[in-house]
Amino acid sequence: MRLITYCKSCKKSTPINSRGILLRTDLEDKYGIEVPYQCKHCVTTQKTHPNQIYAQSSKLPMVFTSIVGFLFLIIGFFILGAIIISAGFISLQSSNATLFNKSTVFQG
Ligand SMILES: [Zn+2]
Repeated sequence: MRLITYCKSCKKSTPINSRGILLRTDLEDKYGIEVPYQCKHCVTTQKTHPNQIYAQSSKLPMVFTSIVGFLFLIIGFFILGAIIISAGFISLQSSNATLFNKSTVFQG
C-alpha cells in the first residue's frame, strides 16, 4: 500500500511517507492533524489533513505473483508434456513388444 495526496499548489498526486502507517489514525498519531509532505512535481513543502490522504494498493505484488504464476504454468506444461511424451514412448514400446510377440515365423 502506498499513500498519496493531491498537492495544494499543482493539484497533482504526490506520495506520502507511508512507513508503519495502516490507518489515518496512525498518521494523526505520527504527525498530528497536519501531515507534512514535499510535492515531487513542484517540490514545495506543504501540509495536509490525514483525511486528504488516500491509499493506493501497490501493483508490485500483483505483477510479481502474476510472473511467478506464469512461470509455474510454463514449468507445469513442460512437466505435463514430459509425462505425456514418456507415456507415449512407453505405450509405443509395449505395443511394439506386443506386436513382436504376436508375430510368428513359419517353421518348416
Ligand atoms: Zn505540487
